[in-house]
Amino acid sequence: MPSNILRQYFPFFSSHRSERCVYLDSAATSQKLQSVIDITQQYYQERTVNVHRSSHQLAASVTEQFEQSRKNIQHFIGAKSHKEIVWTKGATESINLVASGLAKNVFKTGDSILVSALEHHANIVPWQQVAQALNLQLEVMPVDAKGVLKLEESLQLITSNTAMVALGHVSNALGNINPIELIIAKAKEVGALTLIDGTQAVSHLAVNVQQLDCDFYVFSGHKMFGPTGIGVLYAKYDLLEQLPPYQLGGEMIKQVSFSETTFQPPPLKFEAGTPNIAGVLGIGVASEFIQLHRTTLLALEHNLYQQLLDTLSAIPQVRLWGDNVNSICVQSFTVQGVSHYDLAVLLDKHNIAVRVGHHCAMPLMEALGIDGTIRVSLAAYNNSADIDIFGAALTECIALLNESVNQMATDNTPFEHKQTRLAPIAESIKQAKSWDQTYRQLMLAGKGLARLQDQYKTDTTAVYGCESQVWIKCCIDEGKLVLEGDSPSKIVRGLLAVMFEALSGKTVNQVLVFNLADYLEALHLGKHLSQSRGNGLSAVVDKIIEYCQHQSPDKES
Ligand code: PLP
Repeated sequence: MPSNILRQYFPFFSSHRSERCVYLDSAATSQKLQSVIDITQQYYQERTVNVHRSSHQLAASVTEQFEQSRKNIQHFIGAKSHKEIVWTKGATESINLVASGLAKNVFKTGDSILVSALEHHANIVPWQQVAQALNLQLEVMPVDAKGVLKLEESLQLITSNTAMVALGHVSNALGNINPIELIIAKAKEVGALTLIDGTQAVSHLAVNVQQLDCDFYVFSGHKMFGPTGIGVLYAKYDLLEQLPPYQLGGEMIKQVSFSETTFQPPPLKFEAGTPNIAGVLGIGVASEFIQLHRTTLLALEHNLYQQLLDTLSAIPQVRLWGDNVNSICVQSFTVQGVSHYDLAVLLDKHNIAVRVGHHCAMPLMEALGIDGTIRVSLAAYNNSADIDIFGAALTECIALLNESVNQMATDNTPFEHKQTRLAPIAESIKQAKSWDQTYRQLMLAGKGLARLQDQYKTDTTAVYGCESQVWIKCCIDEGKLVLEGDSPSKIVRGLLAVMFEALSGKTVNQVLVFNLADYLEALHLGKHLSQSRGNGLSAVVDKIIEYCQHQSPDKES
C-alpha cells in the first residue's frame, strides 16, 4: 500500500483547508482515522448509553463493544488477559495511578526508583513526588552527548535497592528506541518492578508485553490514530490485585454501606465513574488498524525517515540529536547560530507544523546542554513531498535568519541611548508588505535592542509562558517605566522591541490601561502571531503590568 493510498484513511489530508498544512508533529498527536471518527460519532449519534449499568438491549450491546475494545488492546500488546487492560485518560494518568498505588502498598524505606534522563515529564514527576514523600532515592540512567542511553552505566544502577525501573520504550524528544529488553531483564534479576512508557512506541513498533516481561506498560490513544482522553494501563494481574484503587465511586464499587465498601476486581477496580466510552471504542478500532497494516506502516516509515535524515544531513548548519539508527521516524535537530523558536515561527509561515522546545523533557535538554530542539515527527501517512517541502522551506528559513544577521551590524551602544532609536519600529512593521518583510523588520528591531547582562537573567526576570526563553527587567526612573529584556530568539527580541517602544517612558497608570490586542492589530501584527506566541507576548505584558501594579500609588485602594 503506497503512502498516498494510506492517506485516504485520514480525513485530515482531504479536509477543505484553504492552505495545505504539512503535518510533521505526529509525536505530539497523530491524525485520526476515519474509522475512529466514525465509531465515535456513531456512539454519540445513534448508540448513546452508559456501559456496565443498564440492562436494556442497547446498553448491553455497547457494553459488549466496550469490552471488545479491551480485548483488541489485549491482542495489540500481547497481554495474557483482557483483565490486565485498564482504561485511563492517557499515559500520564496511567503512570500516576501506578506511582501513587505503589507508594501506598509496595515501596518501603531504603528503596530507590530509577528513571532515565530521556523521560517525558509524565514519567519523571510522579516518581519524583513519591520519592520525596517517602524519602526514597530517585536515580537517573544517563545519556551520552547525543542523547543515547548509556547502557552499561544504566545497568549498573539497577541494584538490590531498586524497587522500580521506569523507562520510555521510545524517547518522545529524540525518537531513540531504548534497549528495554536488557533493562527489564536486569531489573528482574534484582526483583525490581518495571514500568515501560510505550506512548511513542505502540504505533511504530510491534509490542508484546509477555515477551518483554515488563510489569506495567502504558500508552495513550491519541498518538496511535485514536481519540484524545483515552489511555491504557497494562499491568500483570497479580499486581493489579495488589494495587489500591486510584479513584473511588461508580462502576469500581461492588457493595457500599456506611460502614464498609468493597470493590470490583481488576480492571473495573480502577475505572471509577462513567468512562470515556467513545474513546474506548475509538482506541479499539485504531489498534485493529495498526495491527492489520503493521508491515506496511513500518516500511513506509522507514523510507520516510531515511529521506528525512538525508534532507537534514545535506544542510551544513544542522546538528542531529539522538540515535539515528535505532529510532522511530522522529528526528530532533538544532541549527548552529539559529534559535529553534525563530525557525519554528518561520516554518509555520510556510504552513509546516513541527514542534520546538524542550518537548516536556527538560532534564534531557539540560543533560544535552541545550534549551530545546526542533522535532520533526513523521507517521506513515506522510509522503515524500511533505519532506521535500519541509527541506526547501527549512533551507529558505535558515537563509532568511542568516541574511538578517549579516545585514545588521553589532551595536554596543548602551541601553539608555536606544530609546529614541526604537521609536519608528511600529511604523516599519505596519508598513511591511508581506509576512517575510514583517519578520525581517522584527529581527532588525530585535537587533537594535541592547543585550541584557547575564547577571540579570534570573528566575525573577524570566518570563514563563513563551516558547522561547525571555527575560524582562523593569524599573521606574523619575516616574517613568524603563524596560530591558532579552531572548535567544531574534523574533522574540523584535517583539520585545515593539513592546518596549510602546511602554518605555510611560507612567505606571498609562501602562495599566495598555491593550495588547488592540496594539498588535494596529501594527497588523496580530495575524502573524500564533496563539502560543501571542500568549508568550501576553506573558511579557502581564509581567510588566504586574510590576506596575506593585508600583502604582493606587494599589492599596
Ligand atoms: N510519555 C511520552 C513518551 C509522551 O510522549 C507523552 C506525550 O507526549 C506522554 C507520556 C504523556 O501522554 P499524555 O499526555 O497522552 O498523557
